[in-house]
Amino acid sequence: MRTTQVKTTCSYCGVGCGIIAGKDERGGLTVTGDPDHPVNQGKLCSKGRNLNYVVQDHADRLLYPEMRLHRSHPRSRVTWEKAMLRAAAVFKSIIAKHGPDSVGFYVSGQCLTEEYYLVNKLVKGFIGTNNIDTNSRLCMSSAVVAYAKMLGEDLVPVAYEDLEESDCLFVAGANPSWCHPILWRRVEAHKAANPEVKIIVVDPRKTDSCAIADLHLQLIPGTDVLLYHAIARQLWNDGRVDHDFVRDHTEAGENYVRILKSINLRKAAKACGVPLEQIRLAAKYIGNAKGFMTMWAMGLNQSKVGVEKNGALINLHLLTGQIGKPGAGPFSLTGQPNAMGGREVGGMASLLAAHRVLADPADRAEIASYWGVEELPAQAGLSATQMFEALESGKLKAVWVICTNPVVSMPNANQVERALKKAKFVVVQDISNRSETAEYADLLLPAAGWLEKPGTMTNAERRVSYLEPLAKPPGEARPDADILCDFARHMNYPGFNFQNVSEIYDEYARMTAGTNIDVSGLSHQRLREEGSFQWPVPSADHPGTPRLFTDHKFATQSGRARFMSTISHLKPTPEPPSDRPFILTTGRLRDQWHTMTRTGKVARLRRHQDQPLLEIHPLDAFDLRLQDDQLAVVTSSFGEVRVKVKHSRAIRQGVVFLPMHWGKILNANRSRTNNLTDDQIDPHSKQPNFKFTYVNVQAY
Ligand code: SF4
Repeated sequence: MRTTQVKTTCSYCGVGCGIIAGKDERGGLTVTGDPDHPVNQGKLCSKGRNLNYVVQDHADRLLYPEMRLHRSHPRSRVTWEKAMLRAAAVFKSIIAKHGPDSVGFYVSGQCLTEEYYLVNKLVKGFIGTNNIDTNSRLCMSSAVVAYAKMLGEDLVPVAYEDLEESDCLFVAGANPSWCHPILWRRVEAHKAANPEVKIIVVDPRKTDSCAIADLHLQLIPGTDVLLYHAIARQLWNDGRVDHDFVRDHTEAGENYVRILKSINLRKAAKACGVPLEQIRLAAKYIGNAKGFMTMWAMGLNQSKVGVEKNGALINLHLLTGQIGKPGAGPFSLTGQPNAMGGREVGGMASLLAAHRVLADPADRAEIASYWGVEELPAQAGLSATQMFEALESGKLKAVWVICTNPVVSMPNANQVERALKKAKFVVVQDISNRSETAEYADLLLPAAGWLEKPGTMTNAERRVSYLEPLAKPPGEARPDADILCDFARHMNYPGFNFQNVSEIYDEYARMTAGTNIDVSGLSHQRLREEGSFQWPVPSADHPGTPRLFTDHKFATQSGRARFMSTISHLKPTPEPPSDRPFILTTGRLRDQWHTMTRTGKVARLRRHQDQPLLEIHPLDAFDLRLQDDQLAVVTSSFGEVRVKVKHSRAIRQGVVFLPMHWGKILNANRSRTNNLTDDQIDPHSKQPNFKFTYVNVQAY
């Protein structure tokens, strides 16, 4: 039987594995790892290997637009034209009556770069508001802000190949063995071939990633900043500071050194819940390393002091001169496949395309003239949590949700439901009817999914890949870019008459010329013919740039990297309130993705764990008389869940863990983890505090 094959990229995590997808004459799909791809060399994890089942199963797919004129009515099928006329009429009327800031768009790190670019152009350039945010806000906005503050711009300095050149890997607040599996397989192979390589894992849970660790620092949640300062202090004591690098290539170090000198190591170790000997050993491993690399994810970012946590970790690189050379540098892992692409095109309420700065009038004027509009709004828009707060308070009247399921994924999810109920108009653009958010849609728009549309994504190491389509979207589903251009035309906005998505990419790529994220040397055609590239790629014959800052010239005005003098460690960790004595932390499971609208369809992926389980230390469970597998009630000041208990010695006493995936549709106990989570946000990055919520646990 004849099979058509295309090369594409996995649509799940930010690792960005290359995939060869095949379709036979009967429509049967196959998915295998691309052996020539530089990221995965043919390997795929359980999620990627099962993507063909997700794409082939159309049982849950949205097939045609649906609309309702009143919340008490059921939605009914309408034509695309009627759907677009209604969307444009409602948005025009709300904007005319309440101004452009009365509407908002909430999008996703799953969107392709072209879609991300378009929606930003539409909202910031033409509607005239910066109320466009994304679920990437929940994922890595703290890293974005820390990079910008310290390195001058949101520039990830390293490449995956640095992992194999490093001899000390420090993994903080991440479980890459489960959440970035193929990248971790590379680390495991590196460690197996070079047993002298040191691996340090910092996590309140002993995760799968600890299996190859030389040292596991099982800290008390929330004490990260103090721990990194304590390690820095020990490096200082051991004479492991690179004074030449600090003198020649950094600034603002005096305050930082003053903070380090104030650290009492014995007290710090006690406050972090980590033996002092382990802090000394971590400093020894780092101090002895030729190449010191840090990797981190949500454990640092999802915090009300996420930027400070990032800053305290990046300080270790500046102190030791471990940046801009092989095997060295800070490396924030992106959770979603195109979180980086979103950052490039300014896909958040606080950013502008091509790393232009929203607060800079000249940058705003440049983008405005590029888009052919008079001006761009100067004020940062509503971030993810702020958008739903504003919907609930009535300040925001309408929201358009694209490719994400905030009713399950946002913190304090009960509040998100209240907000959507209160909204005057909700548009949901998605591929699946398994999205709990769809229930609130006044207008439900069916979108094309992976393998059904062309476009690009950028992975965690700045690698841009082209995704070749292989199948037609089912029913009347359309690519997101198509839907957005159609809406823009119905709003009578010029500048959206693209013939195809490669023209959208070209428009964006031209805008980057001469910047630090220059991709003007890329086009869809080049990516199709020559494979993926790491930006910057400033000309059509440029090979791409694996490593940044090799000349130790940073993107700050002075060219020096800036130490971040953090203060959150000065506040003593408060005792938990007596009615909520446990710290809840949340995260992912190995075989599930976000709110399970795709991985939840695959029986073999559900076998790994088929329901949410509350991990609790057996001694805590004993005190609460909670047997393994017994139903418990967990309460926080935001809500409650009922969930079965799993005894685990892998978690610290006093800490409990819940996976973030389950919403109401797939869960008999209706135990949505984010009923519980804290919606406080970091003041700089606006990223929510998912990883630290005080809860009570008791038998049901
Ligand atoms: Fe997909 Fe990430 Fe797994 Fe690679 S590691 S196959 S990108 S989910």
